[in-house]
Amino acid sequence: MREKPVQLVSLDVTNSPSGLRAPLFGLDAEALSTLLVSAGEPAFRGKQFAEAMYRQWLSEICEIRTLPSALRAKLAAEGWQIGRPAIARAFQSVDGTERYLVEFAGSAPKGETVETVWMPEGDGGDAGDEIGHEEKDWSRATICISSQVGCAVKCQFCLTAKLGLQRNLTVGEIAGQVVAVLERQAVRVGRDRMNLVFMGMGEPFLNYDNFMAAVRLLVHEVGLSPRRMTVSTSGIVPGIEKFAKEPLDVRPRLAISLNAPNDTIRTEIMPINRKWPISEVIDAVRRVPLRSRERITFEYVLLGGVTDRPEHAREVARLVRRSGLSAKVNLIAWNPGPGIACSTPTPEAVAAFHVALTGEGIPAYIRQPRGRDIFAACGQLKRTVEG
Ligand code: SF4
Repeated sequence: MREKPVQLVSLDVTNSPSGLRAPLFGLDAEALSTLLVSAGEPAFRGKQFAEAMYRQWLSEICEIRTLPSALRAKLAAEGWQIGRPAIARAFQSVDGTERYLVEFAGSAPKGETVETVWMPEGDGGDAGDEIGHEEKDWSRATICISSQVGCAVKCQFCLTAKLGLQRNLTVGEIAGQVVAVLERQAVRVGRDRMNLVFMGMGEPFLNYDNFMAAVRLLVHEVGLSPRRMTVSTSGIVPGIEKFAKEPLDVRPRLAISLNAPNDTIRTEIMPINRKWPISEVIDAVRRVPLRSRERITFEYVLLGGVTDRPEHAREVARLVRRSGLSAKVNLIAWNPGPGIACSTPTPEAVAAFHVALTGEGIPAYIRQPRGRDIFAACGQLKRTVEG
């Protein structure tokens, strides 16, 4: 049977000077179907396209064997491209953490990158016991994803803040970081325990629509569970209010980057607190309906001499108790970064803070820093090129 000639209509996507069109990566099956129907193709081609990009992780149109060769040739000739973000550089830590500089296709400025971090964890005890996966030395892992290039929130302890906000990432640029890492690490979606944390560069709730659309794509098209995703916000109240209305089948877990025991100290280290003080943030968080056994996480970066005293711990305990939220506190010792005038707390101060919180009945956990040696730890993401 002769394949019918393909006529692609022009869509409202920007052509780059190279003649390439905006990337298709980031469109869901429905949008791809609409696109292909408008090109005179049957709707099921959209599903095939989505399957190829999000389940088989193909990155070139010519590799999609389920599409007729005439269609593939025509799409390529017209400048269409999958345009998935690509890992441009990788740095490996002694603890197994990998930090990637991820580059974008389409009209993104050449050489512009964001950071994505891979953190394998697990005891390795059950790794390698399945045929074909002997080489894996992790049983669960976490991917930390960026949502913006730079960040407009001026947290004093954070290296990303030094970049300022350069731009929001698109849906495909956010979800594409995940797929690029899944492919690199040969993750078996649905079988390996994969956690996603939206805690890389940027404030996800200041790029809310793209962030949530990326989550929907990762859930519906890539097949990842929203229960294993956590988004961290510095306390953008309108974002938390929108988030509270998201359906549970696509809503990640919520973490609040608290970092201080009271408004006075928080405003000093997180000026955003002037706009949305702790009580307003907590009021908004109370409106987020939780799943059974779900807890809100309060992230608390301990700054030596500033937020790490026992009285601060007692104040945090009171604050969490009074919130009435089902919550836990994650304690993170501040990671040093060039040009930031903060100090790392002593291990004794971290331990004492932890004891003081748990002694007050607050579930609290000390998070071990990952990939400090390659600038991959919390607050260290600034596209540093030293390995
Ligand atoms: S800690 Fe997060 S919100 Fe604050 S400046 Fe850094 S990236 Fe932005």
